[in-house]
Formats: sequence, structure tokens, C-alpha cells
Amino acid sequence: MNRMSNLIYLDNNATTAVAPEVREAMRPYLEDLYGNPSSIHTPGRTAARGLDRARQQVADLLGCHPAEILFTSCGTESDETAITSAVAQDGGRRHVVTTRVEHPAVRNLCGALAAGAHGRPVCRVTEIPVGAGGEFDWDAFADALDEGTTIASCMWANNETGVLFPVEDIGTLCRDRGVPFHTDAVQAVGKVPMRLSDLPIDMLSLSGHKLHGPKGVGALYVRRGTPFSPLLVGGHQENGRRAGTEAVHQIVGLGQAAELAKANLDAETTTVRAMRDRLESGILAAVSGARVNGRRDRRLPNTSNLRFPGVEGEAVLLMLDTHGVCASSGSACTTASPEPSHVLQAMGVPAAAAYGSVRFSLSVSNTMEEIETVLEVLPPIVRRLRDMSPFGHEDSPAAKAIEP
Ligand code: PLP
Repeated sequence: MNRMSNLIYLDNNATTAVAPEVREAMRPYLEDLYGNPSSIHTPGRTAARGLDRARQQVADLLGCHPAEILFTSCGTESDETAITSAVAQDGGRRHVVTTRVEHPAVRNLCGALAAGAHGRPVCRVTEIPVGAGGEFDWDAFADALDEGTTIASCMWANNETGVLFPVEDIGTLCRDRGVPFHTDAVQAVGKVPMRLSDLPIDMLSLSGHKLHGPKGVGALYVRRGTPFSPLLVGGHQENGRRAGTEAVHQIVGLGQAAELAKANLDAETTTVRAMRDRLESGILAAVSGARVNGRRDRRLPNTSNLRFPGVEGEAVLLMLDTHGVCASSGSACTTASPEPSHVLQAMGVPAAAAYGSVRFSLSVSNTMEEIETVLEVLPPIVRRLRDMSPFGHEDSPAAKAIEP
């Protein structure tokens, strides 16, 4: 797979490198195969065949029927389409149940629905809490579902900690209560096996750039028979479910990425997991006071979110960057925000410890050699930063005041 030269890229939950196979699959659609898939002439039909193939490739990865896939511009659009579709179908009940740790794509939309902002219909929104390990709060969820609930939207895998929610059980409870269930699976697709035809999930979002596909393309799975209202209504594309001429080259790239992801699923749970575990155990052994954020047993195989008392995560990142190592201090979308991560806050991680957290997210393109390099450079970086800080030593009074 493609890797920027000399970089050790451990920020794959933010975005991934486009796989060479994906680039090659897209290229003809940026050159000769530029037809509009809605046109009846030969170039149009050729483009339409590209879409059909991609739809089949995505359906094969998800274990569903291709007619259940519609293409969108990104994971965010897929999330918004799913939730607003359910709200539009609703006969005035308008209650959305979600969790406190969702990606802003869902969280901020729910905030807009709660406030009736940007012309959205006002909805009641219940955000359920999570446990200290980021785990799903069953009691709160079961209590939140009521006769007015329009939709439940709970992510499959958390982008910051990798913690997995029990989506099969959540969907079963929703089905029993007659509530449609959407899951944001942007981080789960391609990292955990899934067979949607056997799961009680009504809608599922994914994004191309998280699985070695291009940016600017996503997909939404809508189970057959699920009532649906499109977000964009201008044209008849995607069977009337998403207006706008399809970005054929992007969609073809997403299809190819899905095919690759399916072929690489075993490697995610073996090779990638082994590298993540080596990285994590090596850091925990070498950096005093380091801790894992989130429960370790039900987690994506590629993600490790660690906190280093006495240092700022951003400082660690900048110093890692000088060694060509790329990681993240939270989700990429929140690096511009001075607030500590809402996910870590929801788990009860003290703000100072949340600021001292770093997320490493691996992919099949990483190597064990790269992991060993990170294990050489990271511990001295944390030591240096601690030496420079009054909070730097675990047993310093200042550090104890932050996290006893
Ligand atoms: N949902 C989750 C869990 C994500 O991690 C992301 C991206 O980070 C998104 C949604 C948004 O996807 P996109 O960048 O394709 O809009």
C-alpha cells in the first residue's frame, strides 16, 4: 500500500492513504470514461456499469443486497441522511436517542435538531451516557426508548478510543420496541467483519477515506423496506434516493477499496492487532503512569488511545512529528477545538488527563519495524516533556492534584 516516504503514519482513523489499486481503478474514470451514468449512450452506460460494480463490491463487504446501498459524498452526509430521513417519516413523535460519544457528524446534527437550528424540525434528543471504559449503558438506553422514539443512532466503533458498541443487541432491542436503528459504522467498516443481512440494523453509514478509498465519497445502507426520505431531492439519481450526478470516479474508488478491505479483513484481526498490541504494551512498559483510555477487550484491532500524565498530548504529537511519526490527540475533526475530547469527558477522564491523551490508529500498511521505531522515540519524548513541566512527574503534587 501507499505510504508517504519516511513517514510512520499512525493516524488512520483520521484518514488513510489511497491504495494504489484504488487509484488505478479510478484513473480511467478521470480520463476516457467520463460519461454521465444517467445518459443512455455508450459512455453513459459504461459509467453506469462502473457504479453497478462498485455497489456490488460495497454490498459484498457489508453482506447485504446491492440495491440497499446508496452513494453519498461522505460519512457525514450518510449520517445526516439516515437521521433526517427517520425524522421526516415520523408522524410528529420526533425523539432521537443517541449516545454522548458519537462523532460530531451525528452529535452536532442532534444538537441542531434539539435546537431546531438551521431550519431543522425541533426534536427531543436523548444522549445516553457511557461507562468509564466507554461501554454502552444498557439501562440508560432501554429507559430512553419510548413510544415517541423516531430513531436510535449509536455508533458501531468509536473513532477516538476504538471501543465497540454491541450493535446486534442494540438493534434487537430497537426492533422489539419498534424503533428504527441507525449505526455510524465509519470506523468499523473494513476493520470488523459484518453481515448486515443477518443483523437487526436498518441503516448504516460508511466513508471511503477511512478504508484506503478516496475522500469525498461515502455510502448509506438502507435495509429493504425501511421507509426513506432523501436529503437531496433535486434529481432522480440513486433511484430517487440521493440527487446529484454520481461522482463516478470516487464511487468506483470506494468500490475497489471495499473489495480490498474485504480481502484484508483477516489481516486487520491478526497483523494489525498484533502491531497495535505490541505498540501499546511497549508504551505501557516504558512510560510510567501511561494508561489506556477505553476498555481493551471490545475494541477495534487498530486503535490505541493512551494518556500520559504530566504532558500535553499536542506537545507529544509535535515532537513525534519531528521524527516523522503521525498520530492524533483526538479525532481529526476536533484538533482545532480547545475543548478536551467529548468522548474522554463522557468516560469521566479528568480534563487534564484528556489533554494528555494521544490516539494511535494503525492500518495494514504499517509494519512491525515502524512500531519498534515508535517505541524507541516515544518514551524519551515523554520524559523530556515531563522534565520541562511542573506537572511532569506522576508523584509531583501538581500531577497528583490533576489525577489522584
Ligand atoms: N463518523 C465517524 C465515526 C468518523 O470517524 C468520521 C470521520 O472522522 C465521520 C463520521 C465523518 O466521515 P466523513 O469524513 O467522510 O464525513
